[in-house]
Amino acid sequence: MSCSDVRKITPPNLDDAHLGKKILCHHPMRIGTPQMSVESVNGKVVAHNYGHGGSGWTLGPGSATYVNDLLQKSEYTTDLKKNTPITIIGAGALGLFTAYDLTQKGYTRITIIANQFDNLTSHNAGGLLAPVSMDNAPEMQKLINQIGIDAYKFYEAIATKTHKDFSDGALIIPTYFEKREDSGLEPYVGVVMQPVKDVILDFGNGTTRNMISYDDGIFIDTAKMMENLCSYLKGKGVTFKQKKVTSFKEIKNRFIINCSGLGANILNKDSQMLSIQGHLIMLKDQKPADLHHMILVYFDKDKTQSGQTVKRSFYMFPKHLPNTGVNDIGVIGGTFIEGATADTPNEEEFSIMMKGAKTFYGIA
Ligand SMILES: Cc1cc2nc3c(=O)[nH]c(=O)nc-3n(C[C@H](O)[C@H](O)[C@H](O)COP(=O)(O)OP(=O)(O)OC[C@H]3O[C@@H](n4cnc5c(N)ncnc54)[C@H](O)[C@@H]3O)c2cc1C
Repeated sequence: MSCSDVRKITPPNLDDAHLGKKILCHHPMRIGTPQMSVESVNGKVVAHNYGHGGSGWTLGPGSATYVNDLLQKSEYTTDLKKNTPITIIGAGALGLFTAYDLTQKGYTRITIIANQFDNLTSHNAGGLLAPVSMDNAPEMQKLINQIGIDAYKFYEAIATKTHKDFSDGALIIPTYFEKREDSGLEPYVGVVMQPVKDVILDFGNGTTRNMISYDDGIFIDTAKMMENLCSYLKGKGVTFKQKKVTSFKEIKNRFIINCSGLGANILNKDSQMLSIQGHLIMLKDQKPADLHHMILVYFDKDKTQSGQTVKRSFYMFPKHLPNTGVNDIGVIGGTFIEGATADTPNEEEFSIMMKGAKTFYGIA
């Protein structure tokens, strides 16, 4: 007989009055694998670091190190010196982590060019560390696991206040899934994480759920990390320029790192880039102590009203947006709608999502 640990969890208040901002944003998903490579294009050396789908935050710090290492070792970079100018295209999580890693490697002349700096997918993302909602060819899995494990160590240092540059932006908190296979985290167990536990979540309203818990899961405060990375990079003299890049030829510098997310579809003519739409609703006036955990459960595939394929899920993370009250905490997600863009907002999904959340918690 298994002796599951019963955890009493008070569900967040999901009445309309406790729902805040509705967020629609788009995962930069690359079919097959994220693009992490170096090539020579018309005399320029272009490294690519994009296409991490629903796991850009999960993989960001490790992916930046991996791509910058590839760049340093590349056959095209014998003339790369610490004071050689390097241009990064994109100011999302991948662009900022790439710049951060370059500063750690001693590069001193870094410019980040982006057509948008605020309200990016990277700010709006939920914040769960789990390599899920991405598309990996099986031969890439070992590398993706290693990159994720490196990233886990980066955030763990922040959460335990032992990181040398950042003192906030990540928390270690219990993370609940229905099944081990749903988490993508099993390869981390025994390396950086403890084994899962079987638990029963008791919502105190007659509803209980059998779940598994990674008690050392990591929540990434994505908006805070964006702020932390930007201010660190400004302090290191990194230049930020607002501009849309239409071709690598426009960039004066020979060394370019392309972190343009969904923009790579056009900029790098990458037809494997796919927009996956996600819906999120921020919560407000909650009790922060009740939300000190994360939950992710998947529902079946379906079609949206507009006929697009949707994988629905329910998740709750303790996300907080800057310039909001301390009790305005928590986010409910989420959808994964293949190929949907801002032109097809699938607005009705917000209410379908809230219905799924209430059913999960047993709230009428
Ligand atoms: C609803 C939702 C929830 C998510 N939750 C999580 C989560 O819990 N955990 C997790 O790990 N990941 C999560 N993700 C995924 C994560 O947010 C992304 O993988 C990550 O933010 C991608 O970062 P990026 O830097 O590649 O792209 P972006 O944040 O989109 O940044 C791209 C940058 O490139 C610039 N750019 C693009 N084209 C050009 C151009 N031609 N010229 C100049 N600049 C250009 C843009 O202006 C921008 O600055 C979530 C995503 C969504 C949509």
